[in-house]
Amino acid sequence: MIKITCMGAAGTVTGSNYLIEDSRGTKILVDCGLFQGGKQTEWRNSADWGFDPREIHTLLLTHAHIDHSGRIPKLVKDGFRGKIITSPPTAQLCDVMLLDSGHVQEMEAEWQTRKNKRRSKKGIEPLYTVEDAQTSLQYLSPVERDQVIDIEPGIKARFRNAGHILGSSIIEMWIEDAGAETKVVFSGDIGKNRQLIVKDPFEITDADYLDAIEYAVSNNEKTIIPAFAVERTQEILYILGEFQREGSLPDIPIYLDSPLAIKATEIFRKNKKYFDEEAMDIVNKGFDPFDMPNLKFTPSTEESMAINKKSGSAIVIAGSGMCTGGRIKHHLKHNLWREGASVVIVGFQAMGTTGRRIVDGEKRVRVFRENVAVAAKVFTIGGFSAHADQKGLLEWAGNFAESHPRVFVTHGEATASEALAAKLREGLNLETYVPRMRESLVLERQKMTSAMVPEAAPGDLQQVIGATVISLEKELEELKIRLTAKGGRIQEADIDRLKDIEEDLRMVLPE
Ligand SMILES: [Zn+2]
Ligand SMILES: [Zn+2]
Repeated sequence: MIKITCMGAAGTVTGSNYLIEDSRGTKILVDCGLFQGGKQTEWRNSADWGFDPREIHTLLLTHAHIDHSGRIPKLVKDGFRGKIITSPPTAQLCDVMLLDSGHVQEMEAEWQTRKNKRRSKKGIEPLYTVEDAQTSLQYLSPVERDQVIDIEPGIKARFRNAGHILGSSIIEMWIEDAGAETKVVFSGDIGKNRQLIVKDPFEITDADYLDAIEYAVSNNEKTIIPAFAVERTQEILYILGEFQREGSLPDIPIYLDSPLAIKATEIFRKNKKYFDEEAMDIVNKGFDPFDMPNLKFTPSTEESMAINKKSGSAIVIAGSGMCTGGRIKHHLKHNLWREGASVVIVGFQAMGTTGRRIVDGEKRVRVFRENVAVAAKVFTIGGFSAHADQKGLLEWAGNFAESHPRVFVTHGEATASEALAAKLREGLNLETYVPRMRESLVLERQKMTSAMVPEAAPGDLQQVIGATVISLEKELEELKIRLTAKGGRIQEADIDRLKDIEEDLRMVLPE
């Protein structure tokens, strides 16, 4: 018996986490990602794991993106002491990404605590701290790809290039159980045409980038690019580098305004041996795509703040990629309302994020507890471009269709997963299955059975909504009493508290 349970990224994109169990009682995880995209999903980050982290022997990690790696510090904090096996670049990237994530967790908890205090509620603990993240790094155990390695008695694995981000892997696993061997392949995230750094920078809708930049330049405004620190940012620098080499890029400063992206870019520079041939070609010609003359790295807060004090055109690349945190929020606050500025959306935006609202054309979005008008022109480029599209995924699956594997489709919003599953069935005649969150699939020779692992939500969503509505009613009641009293008037603190409640409601109510 081999049992695979989807502990994350089922019916949703984020929180990738699979538990694999065999008859010997061995327990292995593949990925341990963070859930992202508003309270409706993020409560799962602090929910029970559905397994005991102390019983997990090994974690196999496909790549460093936070939706695949971001709960590692929590896993270790909760007792995991096994090995985290992954490729060398992934281990290096995790170093910077997990520490950054610890910092984000601390900041968010601090902010939430301040907010709670205004309404005399108790503070909250971060999911994990920078220190927890630091501690978890010692369990990283890098191995080179393309070799079969022994994981546990009867379990072997091999990491193959997934072409999605630096170091990203597909994981093949061979599990011997009850005298038979079963091969299980975890695709992780698959890149376009299995390329490491953009396949063809000339083909990547380059005109769209130039359009967005030229639009802002003609208005003497800035171009703001929210980007993921790893891969997406380096791809953009690479594309801008190409424009510059061919002389089509206006002569304006380019700011890489993200300490994380700056560190990640350094890791890219150090790992050229993992580049694809085309990127290597350019490097061999003596051109370092990350070394343009007007490219400025702004690691410090002062340097970052100085960008917004300077008028005139510039290109600003900052995280987070979905505009949920980080320095991008400052740049949006300063530029989103400016007619003539441009915002370039270059990656997937999960439901419930500020980035998604901007893509969906909302006229106002919340930034730092303020409603900011969207007057800048929004350019959406490539959408999901670090990932293969449906056609790419079908092509990839076609490579092994002959062996008639059962295909489990995860890591997508429900309708997208169903659509892909239908294509796999109709086009490739494959047996497909779209598992639900916490669904266990038991693989036996000829058949498969399914069961659910119960999930205890920390306060059911309805309850959270209920509690928010009650506190709103209470707040209004108190306000009414004060206003009817002699000389009573609305104070700033009242407005703050009401805004907090409004924000809470926005986060928990369905779109
Ligand atoms: Zn990814
Ligand atoms: Zn992913």
